[in-house]
Amino acid sequence: MLYQSTRGNYHQVSAAEAIKTGMVPAGGLFVPSEIPDLDIQSIQGLSYADIAYQIFVKYLPEFSTEEVREMVSQVYTETVFSHPDIAPVVRLTDKLSVLELWHGPTAAFKDMALQILPHLMSLSLKKIQYDKEILILVATSGDTGKAALEGFKNIPGIRIVCLYPYQKVSKIQELQMTTTDGQNTFVIAMKGNFDDCQAKVKEIFSDVSFQQELLSQNIELSSANSINWGRLLPQIVYYYHAYAQLAEKKQINWGDKINITVPTGNFGNILAAWYAGRMGLPINKLICASNINNILTDFINTGKYDKHREFIETTSPSMDILVSSNLERFIYEMTGRDDHFINEIMTQLQEADFFQLDSKNLEKMQEELYGDYATEEETLQMIKDCFEQHRYLLDTHTAVGMKVYEKYVSMSKDTETVTILDATANPYKFNTTVLEALKGSDAVAGKNEFEILQDLSQYSGMAIHPGLKDLDQKEVKHTMVTETDQLKDLIRKIVKK
Ligand SMILES: *Cc1c(COP(=O)(O)O)cnc(C)c1O
Repeated sequence: MLYQSTRGNYHQVSAAEAIKTGMVPAGGLFVPSEIPDLDIQSIQGLSYADIAYQIFVKYLPEFSTEEVREMVSQVYTETVFSHPDIAPVVRLTDKLSVLELWHGPTAAFKDMALQILPHLMSLSLKKIQYDKEILILVATSGDTGKAALEGFKNIPGIRIVCLYPYQKVSKIQELQMTTTDGQNTFVIAMKGNFDDCQAKVKEIFSDVSFQQELLSQNIELSSANSINWGRLLPQIVYYYHAYAQLAEKKQINWGDKINITVPTGNFGNILAAWYAGRMGLPINKLICASNINNILTDFINTGKYDKHREFIETTSPSMDILVSSNLERFIYEMTGRDDHFINEIMTQLQEADFFQLDSKNLEKMQEELYGDYATEEETLQMIKDCFEQHRYLLDTHTAVGMKVYEKYVSMSKDTETVTILDATANPYKFNTTVLEALKGSDAVAGKNEFEILQDLSQYSGMAIHPGLKDLDQKEVKHTMVTETDQLKDLIRKIVKK
């Protein structure tokens, strides 16, 4: 199996090369040249690490089976994830179960992939006998940053620079990043919002002369954002594993179709579910949940992707996105791998801020996806309702997903299909909004996030996630702030260190 560009502008490369490089140098994303099958029946009785092994070997032909085995058994263990099932499925009703993806060290689902990506990357560098140092450049809306920093810290041959929107992440998210140790970690706050950060990173990745300049100092840029195939691959695993858990608990029979609801931002998580479906996971509908930055909802319902709109800051910041990078992969696959079409719409998006699918492709998309969104009010109400009904605490992103699932059921009348809802963050990560949703604004007035954590824990009875405790006691090690146009200079300085 080789990997090819969604824009047809690059030669086919090996898995190791695709993971090392991250994004196609001239723009475009790597996708596997074919999608392998994995029969759902064949994973009966397998552990998380076993399923990861089964999936990885299909996509990483040049890695030896021993290498893959060692990697998955090192990462998907109880010493890294604070739950024996790694990503447990928790039943709320007969028809709805929550897939908890936040048991990793940083309390967000990004850990599921970012704990293993550094291993994938190290091995990839070895495979291609790479002699340069890798500089990972990551844009984060809050959660990816810490997960990537934790994963890559002290990995030989790799430096990581993490870019977040200045004053636009929560105090806890900021402290998670700025207290990171490790000789090879750099954290930069950039003025602007997350889309500005992401755009800046993409610009640098397409800046051939800047890359040449770095190369002359023996450094190559790479990415740990979900534009890197090495991020998506590990996310396929938990969908198979979740299905197996449902079947083993007899909530479904082997072979039954399920729905999967995904609180969506960059379209990475839901795309992994789509790939799982193509490999053989029985899926009825993928439910794409957005907050009021509902560009994806509009796209799925009308076929028009129109980014000419206001960017709104919400209480689910990891979903505050106008350009969902991985949509490019989805449209590529859905149109039967039409790279001309991808070039056309990407140019149009750049020049006119929108593109439009024809009715045939729109119909195709709607067969697989349902798109809807939740308002801020609905999201907060959902946190309260869910806790009162099920004694189950949702974070803001998962609450958006739950609300959209509710809307899906009422629109489609599909009350029968068992549904998985991805819980993408631990509720304590967004403690202020969660406590306010439960107890009103007086409960949080005048308190700092650490007092709120304690109050929330007392009220809900749920233990505070180990990755979020005692952050206020740790030393802040990173204090860089930059304007957008000074980022490159800052990277030049970091490279010289
Ligand atoms: C990153 C993130 C998302 C969005 O995931 P995508 O793969 O970008 O769609 C949703 N919720 C949380 C908590 C996240 O950290």
